[in-house]
Amino acid sequence: RAKNLGRNNFQYYSKEMTEEAFERLNMEANIRSGIQNEEFIVYYQPQINSSTQQIIGMEALVRWNSPSLGFITPGRFIPLAIATGSIIDLDRYVMKKAFKEFAAWIDEGLDPGHLSINLNMKQLIREDFVSYLSGLIEQGGFSASCIELEVTEGELMDNPSQAINVLKQVESLGVKLSLDDFGTGYSSLSYLKKLPISKLKIDKSFVDGLPFDKEDEAIVRAIIALAQSLNLDIIAEGAENLQQVDFLSQLGCSNFQGYFFSKPIPAEEMHNFLIEYRRSH
Ligand code: C2E
Ligand code: MG
Ligand code: MG
Ligand code: MG
Repeated sequence: RAKNLGRNNFQYYSKEMTEEAFERLNMEANIRSGIQNEEFIVYYQPQINSSTQQIIGMEALVRWNSPSLGFITPGRFIPLAIATGSIIDLDRYVMKKAFKEFAAWIDEGLDPGHLSINLNMKQLIREDFVSYLSGLIEQGGFSASCIELEVTEGELMDNPSQAINVLKQVESLGVKLSLDDFGTGYSSLSYLKKLPISKLKIDKSFVDGLPFDKEDEAIVRAIIALAQSLNLDIIAEGAENLQQVDFLSQLGCSNFQGYFFSKPIPAEEMHNFLIEYRRSH
């Protein structure tokens, strides 16, 4: 019996290992090879100012065209990429690809505004991050002020002191920093003042209930007031209808990123959007 123990144990653990765990392991390996094979695609979602009707910029949002899993959105693989550390390479891949496509739109005179990139905190605190970023900007040939980095409020405020140095270096390059999913984390007001943050992105969950939900309204009013008093820009995420756009505009937030204006779209479509939107506005 003792001889068989190892084998039995193996069978025992194999059965215990859920399908989900296998899928995770499998997906982790697939993320790594997917980066190598360039299976990740960057979509872009325009950001619009409702009072000027201008395109102020766009956010790069990654998608995965996986041979085994099909076309999947970040909700399914970003958390795993963060947990396993492959987010570092994935975010660099996205930056590289997006900077290149964005540079072409600038060169074509399409006036795309700024480019927002989502970054995991692990990326920001890497020693070589600032030189990587400035190298890519130089390659792109555009002004550093065209680039905005988005970090979630939750991740940044989890340990704001570790980020201060790198954020100051990023700021001195001329790159902007935006706090994503604002309202879902716990910001320390003193850090909000101390860190070189230039914009708050109101989380979609507070926009959803507008214009009817009184609690969402109260939260959104508070965020807008906070931004105004700290002299920060503000943008609302996830506006899906005109009522939300009008309501938020009245409260003092006129920058929007949401399905009402456009869903995230692939590069070729963004290229057309930049041309068509201008032609019609
Ligand atoms: P996020 O940075 O807060 O991006 C906004 C998300 O809201 C996007 O989802 C976008 O498609 C969605 N959205 C925008 N407007 C609307 C709307 O009107 N209605 C609805 N229903 N949804 C809207 P997506 O593309 O699935 O991305 C989810 C999250 O994944 C992002 O949230 C971001 O945290 C993360 N992510 C995406 N791309 C990257 C990346 O390249 N690197 C990193 N580290 N994270 C990324
Ligand atoms: Mg974002
Ligand atoms: Mg967000
Ligand atoms: Mg989000």
